[in-house]
Amino acid sequence: MIYPRVALIGLGLIASSMAHAMRAAGMTSEIVGYAKSPETRAVAKDLFCDRVTETAAEAVKGADLVVLAVPVGAMGAIAEEIAPHLKRGAVVTDVGSVKQAVVDAVAPNLPKGVHFIPGHPLAGTEYSGPRSGFATLFHNRWWLLTPLPDTDAKALAGLKDFLVSLGANVDEMDVERHDLVLAVVSHTPHLIAYTMVGVADHMRRVSAQEVIKYSASGFRDFTRIAASDPTMWRDVFLTNKDAVLDILGRFHEELFVLQRAIRMGDGEHLHAYFTRTREIRRGIIEAGQDTAAPDFGRAAKPVGKA
Ligand code: NAP
Repeated sequence: MIYPRVALIGLGLIASSMAHAMRAAGMTSEIVGYAKSPETRAVAKDLFCDRVTETAAEAVKGADLVVLAVPVGAMGAIAEEIAPHLKRGAVVTDVGSVKQAVVDAVAPNLPKGVHFIPGHPLAGTEYSGPRSGFATLFHNRWWLLTPLPDTDAKALAGLKDFLVSLGANVDEMDVERHDLVLAVVSHTPHLIAYTMVGVADHMRRVSAQEVIKYSASGFRDFTRIAASDPTMWRDVFLTNKDAVLDILGRFHEELFVLQRAIRMGDGEHLHAYFTRTREIRRGIIEAGQDTAAPDFGRAAKPVGKA
């Protein structure tokens, strides 16, 4: 599916990667962009937008596809602003990392005759902004769509084709299930990484010297995740509160069991536990979501993450 005019609202990592991927796929769509700051708009105009506008309302005029690529907490106000200016028959999608909060904030604002199909690419890096995008970000990554009960089948099929052209594997998921699954595979792991880096930061005496100098893969990988965009992740935790708190509760329980095994010297328990978790890593490699190559953190391109 090629949409003659695509409006990107928010011009950071995800939107810029979409634009680069569209061009790489040979799409001739006009790409119109809007972001909050004039600086971002200027960079986007230089790098990947045919046109940028001074308001979101202007950007969506005449657009066949509108992509909301702003932090989750900003989606509702944008939807309200663009609603009167959307073309009849236009497809509106978003790329937010949380789905129920976006559906609640966006859907009630949109007029009849516009197709809203919420989505979430499970691809990203710890970089943000209009210079951070690249054409292959979505290659072989899942792009989850969470259609609503009244979603138009033709509009859904068209959006799927478009996303496949960007290199993504598209799947459908129920909104609530999405938020729970993402709390497990992305949101809570991010919180744990933030916490571990925070712990090292609190041990300033150590962090000033040994932790930085000798940082080996475990801590170093945490610091990469903990370098992710603060606004985006603040919004993720504020809007996927219930699912994250549920998973965190389970995490605490597991941690206490491991803590006890360490205290009691129960090596058998630890070995069995780590053997099970190692199998999960194998499963991810077999599913093509990462490579088996040893990672010493020296790869030129960051490996995608949700
Ligand atoms: P990003 O690189 O930080 O870019 C965010 C963009 O949104 C910037 O262009 C920013 O404009 C603009 N923006 C922020 N608030 C706005 C507002 N009120 N009105 C208009 N524009 C506004 O973010 P991103 O990584 O592309 O993330 C965008 C969305 O994708 C988020 O909802 C996030 O949850 C989701 N997502 C992210 C990842 C990831 O790993 N990064 C992965 C999957 C999904 P300025 O530059 O002018 O501030």
